[in-house]
Amino acid sequence: MYHIGIDLGGTNIAAGVVDHQHKLICKASVPTSLPRSSQSLADGILELTRNMLEDNQIELSQIDGLGIGIPGTVNQSAGMIEYANNFGFDNVPFIGMLQQRFPFPIVAENDAKAAAWAEYLVGAGSGCHSMVAVTLGTGVGGGIILNGKLWDGCNSAAGEIGHMVVERGGRLCTCGRRGCLEAYASAAALVRSAREAAGQNPDSLLGKLCGGDLLKLNGKAVFQAVKEEDPTAKAVMESFIRYLAEGIANLINILQPEILCIGGGLSGAGDSLLLPLREAVRPMIYSKNSKVNTRIVLAELGNDAGIIGAAGLWLL
Ligand SMILES: [Zn+2]
Repeated sequence: MYHIGIDLGGTNIAAGVVDHQHKLICKASVPTSLPRSSQSLADGILELTRNMLEDNQIELSQIDGLGIGIPGTVNQSAGMIEYANNFGFDNVPFIGMLQQRFPFPIVAENDAKAAAWAEYLVGAGSGCHSMVAVTLGTGVGGGIILNGKLWDGCNSAAGEIGHMVVERGGRLCTCGRRGCLEAYASAAALVRSAREAAGQNPDSLLGKLCGGDLLKLNGKAVFQAVKEEDPTAKAVMESFIRYLAEGIANLINILQPEILCIGGGLSGAGDSLLLPLREAVRPMIYSKNSKVNTRIVLAELGNDAGIIGAAGLWLL
């Protein structure tokens, strides 16, 4: 028997068939094509799933459940998506809509939490009891696993790591507060900082890399300019790492997880992000003299984490 995992994103809907050892058997994806009604989106998920099963000669009777990760606040017990900005969802009974279309049970969770769950099951946190995942994408998401359980909070909204304030009165965040980690340590924030710095220093390598068009600057250019020792890019990166380190040190000091896992698009920078980050976090750890401390590592599952984690929601 298999589970189906769906990773519902703003750009693509990805689906996969996952076995009970969390191994991805096959996957497929289609564009999300927003804006779109919730009913049409549910139809799209059904069609994608049907086609994937057909293409891989898997029968519906071999599936015993479907899990879906959604970028929003998911209230599984009420069957509601309480809020999903990308989709314009405001208390939409989306889980019920899916349930009407499929002959097996449906579970749903926030997408970042589903991806964290996958890393815990078979990725960077495999074999440990506690893990915090920090996902550095367009925003900053995450998931908290304590004693083998994904921590949901009293209202399913726990784990919003990106909305921890690291600079009181700082940059305005999409959530309405100022100075959130997301406003300083997301991919979007890094690009914003790089554009500001390049605008002020047009003769720097960072300024030259965009050929005078600040909108062309992306995260990759920043890492490249840092590699080439550009002082402007280095200052941008140092500030980015400092804010990220503040947030991560807060998480470690409160929760002391065995593993702190860094994922999302920016984690593709590998050691050039991980090594200075570890260096910056270490002095801020309250228990730094303890023999056992949290290990900061990179996520291992890449884009498949969303599918594997959603399919693995059945273990919660
Ligand atoms: Zn915020």
